Amino acid sequence: MKIILRLLVFVKKRWPTLLLGFICITVSTVGGLVIPRLLGNGIDTALSSGEKSTIVTLAMIILGTTLLRSAGRFGDTYITQLVSQQASYDVRNALYDHLHKLGFAYYDKAQTGQIMSRCTADIEAARMFLSAGLLNLIQMFIVIVGVSTLILTLNWQLALMTLAFMPVIFWQTLFVSGKLQPIWARVQQAIGVLGVTLQESLFGVKVVKAYCLQDRENRKFYGQANDLYGDQIAAARIQAIYTPVMTVLVALPTALVLWFGGRQVIDGNLTIGGITQFILYLGMMAGFVSRLGQLANMISRTISAGRRIFEILDTEPAVKDKPDAVQVGKVNGQVSFNKVSFTYGTTAAVLQDINFSVEPGQMVALIGGSGSGKTTIINLISRFYDVTGGSVTVDGLDIRDVTLSSLRKNVVVTQQDIFLFSSTIRDNIAYGVPNATSEQVESAAKAAQIHDFIMSLPDGYNTWVGERGVTLSGGEKQRVAIARSLLMDPSILILDDSTSSVDAETEHLILRALDKLIEGRTTFVITHRLPIIRNADLILVLENGGIKERGTHNELMALNGLYRQTYESQLEANRDAGLNQEGDTRDGR
Ligand code: ADP
Ligand code: MG
Repeated sequence: MKIILRLLVFVKKRWPTLLLGFICITVSTVGGLVIPRLLGNGIDTALSSGEKSTIVTLAMIILGTTLLRSAGRFGDTYITQLVSQQASYDVRNALYDHLHKLGFAYYDKAQTGQIMSRCTADIEAARMFLSAGLLNLIQMFIVIVGVSTLILTLNWQLALMTLAFMPVIFWQTLFVSGKLQPIWARVQQAIGVLGVTLQESLFGVKVVKAYCLQDRENRKFYGQANDLYGDQIAAARIQAIYTPVMTVLVALPTALVLWFGGRQVIDGNLTIGGITQFILYLGMMAGFVSRLGQLANMISRTISAGRRIFEILDTEPAVKDKPDAVQVGKVNGQVSFNKVSFTYGTTAAVLQDINFSVEPGQMVALIGGSGSGKTTIINLISRFYDVTGGSVTVDGLDIRDVTLSSLRKNVVVTQQDIFLFSSTIRDNIAYGVPNATSEQVESAAKAAQIHDFIMSLPDGYNTWVGERGVTLSGGEKQRVAIARSLLMDPSILILDDSTSSVDAETEHLILRALDKLIEGRTTFVITHRLPIIRNADLILVLENGGIKERGTHNELMALNGLYRQTYESQLEANRDAGLNQEGDTRDGR
């Protein structure tokens, strides 16, 4: 019930529209209630008086009422849809906004498929209730009370006989839709599963073909499609059985009314118009009572959908602005880690006692084996996660005292996994600065050494890059990402493994791009390629979440430790390979 009330909050602010809908539904319902009575009276008048003019007048009144009722129906159909669409629009936007507030920590655990179904199927389920449910409940109330009163005053014995069937009809629909509901839920689920399978096998189509796994993928898909088919047939069977049952359940009281009422007419206790009214009211009531049964089940479905929606909305973002957070302008770029420790929560401490400090414009290199904590350190600078101990400061300010938006304008990360949106190259470069001019975009691309390549494409800057930039190679994507960062013009720049998986020539291009990029900015570079960082002001060698060695290239060479070992073995490997010639790996991930 609490969930329904919370969903209604989204409707509440549309109350003027809702009020109009309420008026319309009352007009149409009352109109609907009056018509059988008018018709019954019309028949009686026609039979008794034989006066043609009275009949014409009555017919006109019935026509008028019908028109009024139709206008009401138009209003109520339109308005219920309008309000429910507006409310679901609001819920969906609230959900989307909130999803963007939730930090990395949330997405570490959440399943994308689940989130997607909440944003689509669950919102739709809630909307169905808001459209069909809300005003209809009012309407059903009017009809059930109205019809009962009308027929009781007409002939109470006949009325009681008729009303006795209503609970049966109610339970029957409740039962049937209760049976159908889990099947529909399974159908929804199966459609989702099928979508995931389809997406995966299309996404991984190269792996599937390379390993000749078409048959296995096909079998998987057929199996899931078969489940879906089975459920849909089961639903169809239930509907096929119970629709005629329903017809019989309505026919029974109708027959009873004819049999019992007919005798009363013959005895002169009931008019022909009266019995006509009865039959019309009976059909009306049966329709509404069965809808009430469906509605009862719809409510239970709405509650479960609402619960899943609010589960997301109620998740507090792990990283958020303090109430008194300050907005910073462009920072100088001084960064310090003071006794920083960190854990992802599930495991033991990933970082322990990290201390270092960089002056504005300096370059820091982070190196170390896979899993040593490099990415984790840089994630803390943009506050993708908050430190568990110690503090990170920028220009001497604890970053938790600064608003996230102003911090992230100053700190730009070129991530390990470069993501290009399905859009043009221009839009992808201008992603952080949507109002950038063409000149600005092009000069960023030139600095990133990607302009010539872009110009060689058929549509130049308007070339569409596919779902994941499939038409670009790894090195090209990297340079697009560098151009994107350059355009943002941040004071603090972070490059996470921006030169992995590229050949020597591309690396050379990227290095030239980087030179431009790091000018006048504090830069953090994570890389496996030590020559890139020879000029770094500070090199941190990480091991198991701690700083093992620190210093400049020369200092670390003199130290004769892990850094020197790695450096020398890399030199040797390069010499053996006669200079790294892997070729630019075109990846179509
Ligand atoms: P690197 O970038 O140096 O390869 P990371 O900083 O990514 O290393 O990872 C450091 C450690 O933290 C690893 O042991 C890794 O398994 C763990 N880790 C990284 N990301 C997460 C996460 N999102 N949730 C839990 N543990 C993580
Ligand atoms: Mg990493």
